[in-house]
Amino acid sequence: MLCFSSPAILLKRTDFGDYDLIISFLSLKRGRISVIAKNAKKSRKRFSGLIEPFAKLDIVCWTSRNNGMPVLQEASMRSPCSGIRGALIETAYASYWAELIHGWVEAFKPQPDIYELLDYSLDALDRHAASPHFMSILFQMRFLGLAGFAPHLASCVACALPLNEIPSNPVVFDLAKGGIVCDGCIAGKNRFHMPISKGTAKLLSWSLVYGMDAAMRLRFNGRSLAEAQRIMEAFVPYHLGRAPRSLNVLKELRRYG
Ligand SMILES: [Zn+2]
Repeated sequence: MLCFSSPAILLKRTDFGDYDLIISFLSLKRGRISVIAKNAKKSRKRFSGLIEPFAKLDIVCWTSRNNGMPVLQEASMRSPCSGIRGALIETAYASYWAELIHGWVEAFKPQPDIYELLDYSLDALDRHAASPHFMSILFQMRFLGLAGFAPHLASCVACALPLNEIPSNPVVFDLAKGGIVCDGCIAGKNRFHMPISKGTAKLLSWSLVYGMDAAMRLRFNGRSLAEAQRIMEAFVPYHLGRAPRSLNVLKELRRYG
């Protein structure tokens, strides 16, 4: 038996038989992991109040030498993030981020930058330190950046003409090409084209340049926020290859909220 411990953020929990739970974590030291919490359903005492969505824990797991699923032995609370679970829209955003990480981050590969981004973003949601809509734009941009899929926004993705030298405003963002295309490089209209104003493109670029504390001070007005939201929430599923279920829930909530 091998033992490991790590700070970890709870992404998802699933029933496993009558007694156990399978829990998916983003852990600092092991990356994304799924572990089994034995008797967690039967004995509520065992991990009482700990196994909650988005909770930040310190976990200790045992893993057998034949590479079976690690077994959760101990968990202690770092931060419950109960401010998220108590608010519908915050819960919807956190669920979306958790689904992105669950679907995109490779298992058993430590990704401390992504861990830090999720940790920071959940903390901001939990404390209601910024609008959740804005936080999600930052989260998606930086997550894409860390995953190597940052959209190309400073110049035309085809001919490198700088954004400032493109005559039209708004310019065209091409989901398939992964960035802005200038007037000369647009080969007819297609369904992957979305308008984006130069101001919004610059704000999105800046959200990657600075550290998280500085990025939090960027100010998106209502129009920029709506544009950025529309583009990010189209670009992320395009690269993921499917629409995350939690994104559909989030969109419904915003529509009727
Ligand atoms: Zn061009």
